[in-house]
Amino acid sequence: MDIEKFNEYKKLTRGNWGKDLSMLKMMTIGLLNQFKDDDLTPITEMLLNYLLSIPKARKDGKKLVMHPFNYGPEIFYAMDLAPLMQETYSVGLAPLGLNETYLDLTNKIGYGDNPTVCNAQRPLIGSYMQGVAPIPDLLFFLSTPCNSLAMTYQVFEQLASIPAFKIDIPYWTYDKVGEFNDDKVIDYMVTQTKELISWLEQKTSQKLNLEKLQETMGKVNQARQYILEFNELLKTVPCPVNSQASFGNFLSMVGCGGTDDAVKSTKWLRDTAAENVKNGISGVTDEKIRIAWPYTHIFFDGDLLTWIEETFQAVVVMDLLGFYQVLPHDVSTTEKCFESLAKGALDFSMIGTCRGPIEYYIDFLLDYVKDYKIDCVIMPMQFACKHAYSMARVSSEAVREETGVPVYIFGCDPYDSREVTSESIRGGISDFITQVVL
Ligand code: SF4
Repeated sequence: MDIEKFNEYKKLTRGNWGKDLSMLKMMTIGLLNQFKDDDLTPITEMLLNYLLSIPKARKDGKKLVMHPFNYGPEIFYAMDLAPLMQETYSVGLAPLGLNETYLDLTNKIGYGDNPTVCNAQRPLIGSYMQGVAPIPDLLFFLSTPCNSLAMTYQVFEQLASIPAFKIDIPYWTYDKVGEFNDDKVIDYMVTQTKELISWLEQKTSQKLNLEKLQETMGKVNQARQYILEFNELLKTVPCPVNSQASFGNFLSMVGCGGTDDAVKSTKWLRDTAAENVKNGISGVTDEKIRIAWPYTHIFFDGDLLTWIEETFQAVVVMDLLGFYQVLPHDVSTTEKCFESLAKGALDFSMIGTCRGPIEYYIDFLLDYVKDYKIDCVIMPMQFACKHAYSMARVSSEAVREETGVPVYIFGCDPYDSREVTSESIRGGISDFITQVVL
């Protein structure tokens, strides 16, 4: 990063963010220092701008809305609120090694443990008790992707006395075909979305400007179009980008969907992939193995995918969150915008694959393996993620039977380096690739 730009960002991190944003401040400084020697990409810039927007919003008197990692923030941006995707904080601490103290504190106060409640959110509770968790003005969450997330958010809601709104995500599809279709799904979601907007209007004493919503949704659709093209480009052999690239699309849509930053980032990723395909450049030198990773990253080990690339000339094409598959929808009228919001919530990364019958996930995985010419599937798994845990074995059998592609499922806690160590994870992956795949 250009030194002037680095200093500019550094200056913006200074000052008093407030005690509840102190960990977020430390995280922002930590990330900035990590990025210091790298090129400043639109993704890095977006991430830094996003983190810095939180203390700025406080200063400017904007309301802070906290939401989970499976819902796009476009309504909040359209209402000029400041969205904070909660896991930016509770998971974002993990790669910096800052979450484990709060996991231990959460244990001490007796709120769950890893086998029952996911450690993606648990640091929120321990750090809240220490006064260093971000306290939003409003809290919003969904009944999916998991009971674990919904439970921790409810505990946080009660502990911090934050007004909250929840959306119930239905089980069925809306595409009017197949055995899982239910014609009431979109209406059910549109009604709840309108109730969410009324609730926001009441809590913030400001009206949603429908033209602004349409404009914001237009930007969401632009970004979705770029991602769709990016996803297509990744079918090329060799894969034109490295194993981390697709996660940038997820961050763009979940943190900044509906903003110019997200349009710029997703366009940059699409352009990079297209340019590399054109010039025969691969994300991993001399690619030999293409891996499907249909689960989340191991967040405490930020170097794991790079290690896989360098050790085995293998690329992880996309992870479950980075595989953002929401189609651009019709946003020509306000009613169409509401439908688009409904479909966007139902199809969001991890929601679309995990909100209903196991067939949603199996179909996704089979298509992924076939369309992206996958050589093997690697699936980390933790017991707290009960829905995914129960789907893993059945899905792996379906992959083996239909495609013959080998699958490796291994237990670990993606948020706690002490449960299964990096060394042990690498050893297992190494054995699988050398003894089964090669
Ligand atoms: S990893 Fe699984 S249990 Fe944890 S927050 Fe994500 S979906 Fe929920």
